Amino acid sequence: MTSATSMRTGLCGELGVDDVGTKVRLCGWVARRREHGEHLAFVDLRDRSGIVQCVVDGSVELRNEYVVAVSGVVRRRPEGMENPSLLTGEVEIGDCTVEVLAAAEPPPFHVEDRTDVDEAVRLRHRYVDLRRPRMQANLRLRAAVVSAIRRAMEREEFCEVETPLLWSPTPEGAREFAVPSRLHRGDFYVLPQSPQIAKQLLMVGGFDRYYQIARCLRDEDLRADRQFEFTQLDMEASFVTQDDVLGFVSEAVLDAAQCATGERPPPIERMTWAEALDRYGTDKPDLRIETELVDLGEAFGSTEVRALSAPSVKGLRIPGGGGTSRAGLDALGERARALGAKGLAWFRVAESDGATTLDSPLARVLSDAERDALVRVSAAAPGDLVLAVADDHRTACTVLGQLRVELGARPVGEGPHRYVWVVEFPLFETVSADGHPVPAHHPFTMPHPEDIDRMETDPLSVRSQAYDLVLNGWELGSGSVRIHRADIQARVFKALGISDEDAEARFGFLTGAFRFGAPPHAGFAFGIDRLVAVLAGEESIREVIAFPKTQSGADPLTGAPKPLPASSLAELGIRIVGG
Ligand code: ASP
Repeated sequence: MTSATSMRTGLCGELGVDDVGTKVRLCGWVARRREHGEHLAFVDLRDRSGIVQCVVDGSVELRNEYVVAVSGVVRRRPEGMENPSLLTGEVEIGDCTVEVLAAAEPPPFHVEDRTDVDEAVRLRHRYVDLRRPRMQANLRLRAAVVSAIRRAMEREEFCEVETPLLWSPTPEGAREFAVPSRLHRGDFYVLPQSPQIAKQLLMVGGFDRYYQIARCLRDEDLRADRQFEFTQLDMEASFVTQDDVLGFVSEAVLDAAQCATGERPPPIERMTWAEALDRYGTDKPDLRIETELVDLGEAFGSTEVRALSAPSVKGLRIPGGGGTSRAGLDALGERARALGAKGLAWFRVAESDGATTLDSPLARVLSDAERDALVRVSAAAPGDLVLAVADDHRTACTVLGQLRVELGARPVGEGPHRYVWVVEFPLFETVSADGHPVPAHHPFTMPHPEDIDRMETDPLSVRSQAYDLVLNGWELGSGSVRIHRADIQARVFKALGISDEDAEARFGFLTGAFRFGAPPHAGFAFGIDRLVAVLAGEESIREVIAFPKTQSGADPLTGAPKPLPASSLAELGIRIVGG
């Protein structure tokens, strides 16, 4: 057994009837003990592999979570005493002698999955929490996933390169953590929100296939799918197109999924950003939810009904939603307005004398043709509910897209894992108050070749060569083909309102490097915490991170963040003001 060491012969959870008669020495924690009279005790011994029952004669003072070494002989349990809920339930260790390696105070909670413990308590005593089978399984799954990703990247001849943690601001929009410099008083390093610039410099440096299991840091509000520090597979390659990058990343993700679930998911489908918006009202479509948005232009394109006349009318069928109460429908209407719609039309679909009927405040004012088209286009059947939003196209789509998710919501890790590539994101997201477009990805993203000439005249219509990978409605990661030509970069900076001096000051070291021979290149990064959380069936990435922060960004275990001694502050030239 490879798990044998000088102190133990093997692992608790791996023993079975084949080992009967073998002398063993096992090390672990006391999971449970039951005394039978003064001289006989049953001790459940736990290590990372599981639990085995040890029968101890004689009196030993043991408590839960003591660390012990037990020597004895594997034997079959007496008939009728087997425990089918335990993998080792057919055997036990007899003739035991027990050596206490370390005593333990009573644990703050039971080390078992069933105990419901407040998260702050779990994190405060994370070392105890990590002994629970769930956390053991999650972190081991994580290690297996990372290992599969490494193997996939190495198979494709990617070279792992470490990039600095003490770095300079990266233009990706997230708030960054600053680190004061002692040697350069008043100056700061920035912790990388991603190795974006470093990996592009590696391309100029001739490493045509780079990857890194990279820690990234962003000072953003925390959520179930967001921590200050997270891990991504970061990659970049030269002399490639978007298709090549999608191919490399798909292989790595599918390998990882296969190693986690035992099954290889089907090839990852692709859709354009415009299609995702049109069909799902979002750039993060959750494809587990069957129902899609439909275009009701055919029904209401020339309607007289004010509530339904707008540049775009989108519909959403809620299968079986026909029983929704008036109060429920009012609440949906309110939600739609909160999301930015002017209103929400609803139609409860029923049947009367074999004909489909619509129950809705608008039913009376629809023409027969409109009613028929609504039923046909939305494929509504008796018992369904059809929702409709009339607005500009984007609002109509996004409002119904959000309702689609809220009504069909399922925990992210539940059910099938539906991956999808969303490609051709717009180059610019919106126009800011100063009239300049705001980049949707980062300013080094290559515009779509067919649209590049509209950059100055109609920037919001310009597509980019940026792409996202989405899993069950979670954005796993994003990437793009990068601009490697100075003339195109200058046009993008100009469109963004970044002056030459500003560009030089902020990104001069990248654009400067490009003057020395930049290959065409493209890359991607995806969140390993998020992928592992879904594969582990967890709702929060905190469950797959050994030492996460709480929602408020604190670490209950170490007490971080905390004040620094005055002497350290003085050395850094920092004075705390206010607060
Ligand atoms: N740097 C990007 C990110 O962290 C990914 C990429 O474009 O490669 O999201």
